[in-house]
Amino acid sequence: MKFVGAHVSAAGGVENAVIRAYEIGATAFALFTKNQRQWQAPPLTPTSINKFKQACQKYGYTSNQILPHDSYLINLGHPDIDALEKSRQAFLVEFQRCEALGLSLLNFHPGSDLRQISVDKCLSRIAESINITLDKTCGVTAVIETTAGQGSNLGYKFEHLAEIIEQVEDKSRIGVCIDTCHIFAAGYDLRTKEACDQTFDEFNKVIGFNYLRAMHLNDAKSQLASYVDRHHSLGQGNIGKTAFSYIMQDNRFNNIPLILETVNPDIWPEEIAWLKSQLVIS
Ligand SMILES: [Zn+2]
Ligand SMILES: [Zn+2]
Repeated sequence: MKFVGAHVSAAGGVENAVIRAYEIGATAFALFTKNQRQWQAPPLTPTSINKFKQACQKYGYTSNQILPHDSYLINLGHPDIDALEKSRQAFLVEFQRCEALGLSLLNFHPGSDLRQISVDKCLSRIAESINITLDKTCGVTAVIETTAGQGSNLGYKFEHLAEIIEQVEDKSRIGVCIDTCHIFAAGYDLRTKEACDQTFDEFNKVIGFNYLRAMHLNDAKSQLASYVDRHHSLGQGNIGKTAFSYIMQDNRFNNIPLILETVNPDIWPEEIAWLKSQLVIS
């Protein structure tokens, strides 16, 4: 099965995200369970939790079709100990919100060294942050996203993610989300079938498809190896439609949320319909 959707708004309550996903024809969706630009959030109310679970049941979404994303403020590899602790606390709260909602994945960006500590030290710090959080929670898998490597963000090489996974104790609750725009910006070509073959072979060699738990399907306004994170609508950027067609026709991308974070939500229904239509071509 292919599960396709978009990162929908949870404005007015997490339960509204489910309805928004259904309305655009999505069979998967992503959401923030709290405001992604603030540290604090009121706890989820029992009413909101119940409405969310009921809506998921009504519209046919199970937890492997839903990909919550954590706050942009969190840096699990922060060089400063106090700031690191603040991020770890916030990350734990994100996990607990997923637990409360009955969700099984949490998508996050690995972290940033802020050019104050070495890459290796930062990667170890990120792994330690994940270990601490997994110890205190159950049922939710930590899904590390590949990044474009903008600024001092780590995760722009498959090797970074492999090193984090290596240091995570519970391998059953660690996974990866490939963002197509991010890896393209980080230098992994996707413009042709041959380029896709090569990039995903490399992914399999360095990380392994057994760790692939989600994808973000975005075209790129930025150039190959530009280390600039600028999403575009499918087929309108520098990646082009071939990669997305490839992903839809390849079984290695089955049964995981495939999520659009493309720039024009107005055309998400068309983008989702187009992705679904690629299934029948082969
Ligand atoms: Zn992300
Ligand atoms: Zn993404």
